[in-house]
Amino acid sequence: MNIFDSKNRSQLLAGIIQEEYDLLVIGGGATGAGIALDAASRGMKTLLVEKGDFASGTSSKSTKLIHGGLRYLKQFEIALVREVGRERAVVHKLAPHLVVNEKMLLPLIKDGTYGKMMTALGLMVYDVLAGVESEDQRVMLSKKETIKQEPLLKEDILEGSGLYAEYRTDDARLSIEVMKTAATYGAHCLNYVEVRDFVYTDERVSGALCHDYLSGQDLSLKAKQVVSAAGPWVDELRAKNDSLEGKHLFLSKGVHIVLPHERFPLRQSVYFDMPDGRMVFAIPRGKITYVGTTDTQYFGDKNNPRTNIEDVEYLLHGTNLIFPNLALSLADVQSSWAGLRPLIHEEGKSASEISRKDEIFISPTDLISIAGGKLTGYRKMAERVVDVVAKRLDKKYDLKFKKCFTQEIVIKGGGFNNSAAVIAFSEQLAQTLAKYAIDPYQARYLVHNYGQQTTEIMKIFEQMEQKDTEGLALAELEFTLKNEMVHTAMDFFSRRTGRIYFDIQSIRELQESVLSKLKAYFAWDEERFTAEKAEVERSVFEASNFPPRHETENIPSL
Ligand code: FAD
Repeated sequence: MNIFDSKNRSQLLAGIIQEEYDLLVIGGGATGAGIALDAASRGMKTLLVEKGDFASGTSSKSTKLIHGGLRYLKQFEIALVREVGRERAVVHKLAPHLVVNEKMLLPLIKDGTYGKMMTALGLMVYDVLAGVESEDQRVMLSKKETIKQEPLLKEDILEGSGLYAEYRTDDARLSIEVMKTAATYGAHCLNYVEVRDFVYTDERVSGALCHDYLSGQDLSLKAKQVVSAAGPWVDELRAKNDSLEGKHLFLSKGVHIVLPHERFPLRQSVYFDMPDGRMVFAIPRGKITYVGTTDTQYFGDKNNPRTNIEDVEYLLHGTNLIFPNLALSLADVQSSWAGLRPLIHEEGKSASEISRKDEIFISPTDLISIAGGKLTGYRKMAERVVDVVAKRLDKKYDLKFKKCFTQEIVIKGGGFNNSAAVIAFSEQLAQTLAKYAIDPYQARYLVHNYGQQTTEIMKIFEQMEQKDTEGLALAELEFTLKNEMVHTAMDFFSRRTGRIYFDIQSIRELQESVLSKLKAYFAWDEERFTAEKAEVERSVFEASNFPPRHETENIPSL
């Protein structure tokens, strides 16, 4: 049975409640996905449950970089930079269509924080720590070369720049593909199932009481070991387990704004200083350029962090200082997203000073929680957690499992020899689509999102009567229904396709046909259909309209 086929859900659910799993993972973000793959591939009987859609938490709201975190060098986080820096090349190799090379330009600004020498030294250390191949190592550019590389930069404030290697991804797609890969090793994964409490046997956690939002059922799940990878919700689950003591989470909100490429025609990703010394990225991607991120302590609803007008003004102001000819304004911002970093509180430190290191907590009743960390480090974080789980299962149940080998497991859609093979595949697809007068953008979009699986989408498309861009999107929808557990319109428009961020206009154009197809596929009644339509409209509105911060957050007075 293909467990990721939306129509197999009831059958999957019926089996799940009968089983006792070796491991129950709570949370279907990048961390939980990584743990599910690591555990299942070592031979553990693994179940993952996610209260919303997969990757609906932080793992669809990041800067979408697989990066070593250059700025953490400033904080002397050498071990962190070394680990995530090295992971970049590993994850790129496992999914070169989804984790793509992205050169980053670091402009040197007159009277800026760091001079040429310090920057050159910093970038050299970064390359060495991350073990970057010689052909990919940083180069320092003169003022003239910098302007050639990115003509939008303000020439008179420039002294030169550093150009160094990073990678770009789609965080939600990466999380989902890792989960689908876990399923090929026998893991079971379910979205829309929330853990509401724990079950105990002899004062040890032995399962979880859950609610399934789609069927309305309450479920009792059994597992020898439970791991919480609940991101910003980790402390809530620790509280349910009566183990919220000592270290706790500090939530920091990060916002990105999206501008149409015509208004911000950036050629080259740029990492630049804001007036307050923070650094932000401007990243061109298909039809848009996005800018982010902010870093502010968060006091609102964890399920729906919003982009506020203050966030937008901050990012626009800093961007206009370095790209003044653009004169960007609020009217240019077409979409946005806001995510929460689940950081581990450190007394006296501000949001941007707190370490991004991950940490494992083990409660007296054996609940394992993992918090902190980076998307980039998901595989190594998973390895550490599953090592702990394997040791405990061995000690308590005499169960033996393999060692971690996820560095060799190709992620679904991967299987390309290198980036050149991805480009060749995309160009070939563009030629096929040209026969139907479909823009080559769609070929790049599909190949970067689905990799080799694009062939399956094309098979569906070939059988359809409607041979245009809308038909192609409907073929994509059918693929995600059958292979990616799509249950709502926003599952498709947000976590599967990223359209809400990178192509919001396409939602306005496709909304009717996508909703009609979903209605027919799931036999929705009018009430469900109307609710889904309202949810799409709300999501589009919230991504592109910005209330003041005090309306969305309960900021404590000092
Ligand atoms: P999440 O993605 O939040 O997943 C936790 C999941 O648990 C959620 O989906 C939630 O719904 C689910 N859950 C919670 N409670 C329950 C429950 N009771 N039952 C079932 N499910 C539950 N990292 C990088 O490497 N590169 C970047 O460019 C980058 N940029 C970032 C920019 C921003 C603005 C932010 C906020 C973070 C960024 N990060 C980046 C960090 C990275 O995004 C996170 O470290 C990572 O996504 C966290 O993943 P996670 O799985 O731990 O948490």
